[in-house]
Amino acid sequence: MSIEIRNLSKQFGTFTALHDVSLEVRSGELLALLGPSGSGKTTLLRVIAGLETADSGQVRFNNEDTTHQSIRDRQVGFVFQHYALFRNMTIFENVAFGLRVRPKHSRLKDAEIRERVISLLKLVQLDWLADRYPHQLSGGQRQRIALARALAVEPKVLLLDEPFGALDAKVRKELRIWLRRLHDDMHITSVFVTHDQEEALEVSDRVVVMNEGRIEQIGTPDEVYERPANPFVYEFLGHVNLFHGRIHRGRATIGDIEIEAPEHAEAENMAAIAYVRPHDIEVDRVKNGESALAAHIIHIVSIGPVVRLELAHDDNANKNLVQVEISKDRFRTLQLEKGDRVFVTPRKLDLFPTQLH
Ligand code: ADP
Ligand code: MG
Repeated sequence: MSIEIRNLSKQFGTFTALHDVSLEVRSGELLALLGPSGSGKTTLLRVIAGLETADSGQVRFNNEDTTHQSIRDRQVGFVFQHYALFRNMTIFENVAFGLRVRPKHSRLKDAEIRERVISLLKLVQLDWLADRYPHQLSGGQRQRIALARALAVEPKVLLLDEPFGALDAKVRKELRIWLRRLHDDMHITSVFVTHDQEEALEVSDRVVVMNEGRIEQIGTPDEVYERPANPFVYEFLGHVNLFHGRIHRGRATIGDIEIEAPEHAEAENMAAIAYVRPHDIEVDRVKNGESALAAHIIHIVSIGPVVRLELAHDDNANKNLVQVEISKDRFRTLQLEKGDRVFVTPRKLDLFPTQLH
């Protein structure tokens, strides 16, 4: 099932929650909606589900307008952050619920319901918990049951709103990998809402980055991480260092660094911000001919194979601390210590003018 969203807008009073949003979810795709709290992710998901109506625009399932379709006809499964399991029902009955409330003429026989529920519980690897009650399960187990329950009615589309948001980091990571496998096995189309960039990048085929009711960028995890469309996406997707500088006729100057910026050939002495990821910075003890920024080490953190250095510039125009990540091998080779003077060279940077013509 493909989903096409065309020019959706939604106001709550005078507040615009969705501003002319268009995007396509391909059949069988796992798409992440990523953005800070309040950016409109839940509103968009609820409009897709039919739980909320937009003021204008269309949602099309397999190229058919769903505007006047009921939630049941849309055949969507929904999983929320807070496990909405029925407390007074066993795990088995929770999963069976959607099948038992069907109108009589389309309801499965008891034996068929039993068979389907057991196979779903096996799918989420919790069949051994069938007779327990929700309070006897861990948070992670309850979310897997919520997923089994959503899948029981064989939805064409699975919508997940921060399903792992209330779980601790280790369980979240496990469930991510597990959800990805389940999605692939079920051949279902899924839309997954999260405010956690790592989760979005790890689990999805494509990421939609949202901000203030608008789409900032749509792309594969690699595209949005490696080629952010604008400063918002850059800053939202992981740590990034900002350097202030200027661009003039295809050349950029940041402190002592001068680099080619052919994409800004037209710029006439324009202020700009350079964005550099911590792992895209070279560190050395000596100035090796190339242009480099002088800095000194404020703090050293060693995390597994990576060493993170917090550096302070010696340059007045750039007072921000710089975060650099180097391999432990490189760190040992340089024999760095707190307080040492170093030279840093950005290996890869993106320039964004801060004033327009
Ligand atoms: P997200 O899921 O990205 O955190 P939401 O879609 O829940 O964002 O909300 C987007 C904005 O719309 C928020 O500022 C929120 O306060 C507002 N909003 C959402 N639902 C309602 C509502 N029913 N009434 C008024 N404002 C709402
Ligand atoms: Mg939300």
